[in-house]
Amino acid sequence: MVQFLSLSSGSNGNCYYFGNGRTAFLIDLGIGARTLKKRLAENGLSLDAVDAVFVTHDHFDHIKSLGTFTERYRKPVYLTRTLEAALRNHFCTAGKLKGCIRYLTEGEETVVGDSLRITPFVVPHDATQTVGYHFTFDGERFTVMTDLGEVTDEAVRYAALADHLVVESNYDVDMLMTGSYPPELKRRILMQHGHLSNEQTASLLVRCRHEGLRDVYLCHLSANNNTPEAAFQCAKKTLESVGSRASLHCLPRSCASEVFTF
Ligand SMILES: [Zn+2]
Ligand SMILES: [Zn+2]
Repeated sequence: MVQFLSLSSGSNGNCYYFGNGRTAFLIDLGIGARTLKKRLAENGLSLDAVDAVFVTHDHFDHIKSLGTFTERYRKPVYLTRTLEAALRNHFCTAGKLKGCIRYLTEGEETVVGDSLRITPFVVPHDATQTVGYHFTFDGERFTVMTDLGEVTDEAVRYAALADHLVVESNYDVDMLMTGSYPPELKRRILMQHGHLSNEQTASLLVRCRHEGLRDVYLCHLSANNNTPEAAFQCAKKTLESVGSRASLHCLPRSCASEVFTF
């Protein structure tokens, strides 16, 4: 049995938990260790049982407490060589990951423990490098893509392999364009290395449609340029239009989600 829990999702911090009772790991660590511990405990889960952290990219909202957490708990940190080089010089992590680094190679599967096989793949986003993760955990297949500027063929290919898809649905185009963000920031979000709009996420859902897709989790929703209702309705309409029976969830921005069990 696999448990999935989002501990925080959005530009205020990203952290996603996966566990099966024997192995547990986090994708990203963009919330403080104390908050992490508290939110896990509130859901009957223990920080001590976390075996590893996987990193998607070197933006603050994904690695905020990776350095202090690793210094304190000495858990292995899995990441690509490109990201490791970036984190060596990042103020959050410099000098703090020593002895805990485990390298992953883009497009190659790594086996961790007896139940996890995980592959990072590069997605377009304005960090040094950004990866999504496709993994099989206790036989359940997941694809997680937290930040990406456009839907690439490779993103579709990995999404189409998933039973459970976690993907960002960052902004509503109208809300962004009529909102108060300065033009430069609007451009950054809209460009190919920014974030996915609700409509772009919908286009991914059309392209990756397959019978085996059981659930979709919308993550990294903007607080200012989106609403859970807008993101949910756009994805729901799209899933219905392609005859998908996948269940749909919006992950909360600043608190933990419920625990999803597979
Ligand atoms: Zn982010
Ligand atoms: Zn980012």
